Amino acid sequence: MIKRGKPTQHKCSFCGRSEQEVMILVSGMDGQICELCTEKAQEIIDQELRKAGVNPDRGDESAPKSQKYSGPIHLIPPRDLKTFLDQYVIGQDTAKKVLSVAVYNHYKRLQQASKSASDDVEIEKSNVLFVGQTGTGKTLMAKSIAKLLNVPFTIVDATVFTEAGYVGEDVESILSRLLQVCDYDVEAAERGIVYIDEIDKIARKQDNPSITRDVSGEGVQQGMLKMLEGAEVQVPPQGGRKHPEQKLVKVNTQNILFICGGAFDGIEKIIARRVNTQVIGYNKKEVERVDKENLLQYITHQDVKNFGIIPELVGRLPIVVHLEALDIEALRRILTEPRNALLRQYEKLFAYEGIELVLEPGAVDFIAEKALDYKLGARGLRSLCEAILTDAMFELPTGVKAAKDSKKQFVVDRAYAEEKLERSQIGRLKAA
Ligand code: ADP
Repeated sequence: MIKRGKPTQHKCSFCGRSEQEVMILVSGMDGQICELCTEKAQEIIDQELRKAGVNPDRGDESAPKSQKYSGPIHLIPPRDLKTFLDQYVIGQDTAKKVLSVAVYNHYKRLQQASKSASDDVEIEKSNVLFVGQTGTGKTLMAKSIAKLLNVPFTIVDATVFTEAGYVGEDVESILSRLLQVCDYDVEAAERGIVYIDEIDKIARKQDNPSITRDVSGEGVQQGMLKMLEGAEVQVPPQGGRKHPEQKLVKVNTQNILFICGGAFDGIEKIIARRVNTQVIGYNKKEVERVDKENLLQYITHQDVKNFGIIPELVGRLPIVVHLEALDIEALRRILTEPRNALLRQYEKLFAYEGIELVLEPGAVDFIAEKALDYKLGARGLRSLCEAILTDAMFELPTGVKAAKDSKKQFVVDRAYAEEKLERSQIGRLKAA
């Protein structure tokens, strides 16, 4: 039906050029098209696809395709997402709920985009900002959700980026990491999740009103704006700094979910100031209802802005959610309950040696109490376990093999845990 080559006495049905004026005319049933018009038509198609949120390079056979992320995205209802998160993340119910809804809406939006280009109601991106002390599960939550969704996921640290022209990495290399995890499959990367840690560390310094340039802070925030909003970004495939001879990869960030996280040390003071001024004029009961111990729960975009995140960036993180500080009970549960709980990991390590590891409740309490003292959140649990169990892990394997009739059970009680910790380096650390 379609003949390639130069038909005689024919003109392009689109631009009217004769066969002498063009290189190629392709004939259809009732007309012809020249190579120039084909190019134009392709551009129009690409534009329309982009508007619809579809990557126009989709049909490019030469583009790398990641096996790992090739399957379709399954839309999982928020309730099921949260149930999944419950297996890994202890407590943090509000944050889990908010994240589940955000992720669900994000992927619904993604599906909608590919279905209908003509829909006027465009669901906007729902990037998320986690605010909570270190070791409370911010990264864990983002990581766990990515695992379930089978989309490329990467964690980047905001502190390694600097504004163009300074030593450090270009902001665009955030996307290089995403490309790397999915073997440069642009299409897969374009629906991935990026967790940007330590976003609070690039806050504008409040007492430094720009006599010197704020290299690491505001400039980086500016650089992130475009990316978070959804744009075509030229990415250096290997990361680092862009340079003129480098071949850049074009990545559209419209459907990439960005989750930012930070401890925002001191933001409680900003919240307190706002809450206090707000409640002036209200009755006494209103004032009393404010839970002063747990101010983070009242966090708003206003507080994040006052902390030093520029308003434009705050605006691109429409969902702000706090993570609660972990109490003893939560720490105790973190040690034992999650699917890959620390104690389960140690039990497995001991089991490889044919030894059953038993931590008595007193020892578990002791570890949780110490972790709380050190104010490292759940992060402290691991170093505490190491300090307590290293001797056993060093001695037992050979010991057990030698004594064949041993019971092959290793019991850690509170006294043993206290003694081992006392002797270790971390045990010498006194709580601040
Ligand atoms: P951050 O809030 O600083 O990002 P992470 O999510 O990296 O903290 O937590 C560090 C480690 O502590 C995790 O790998 C995980 O083992 C444990 N952890 C922290 N918070 C929780 C939680 N709420 N439930 C289960 N484990 C947690």
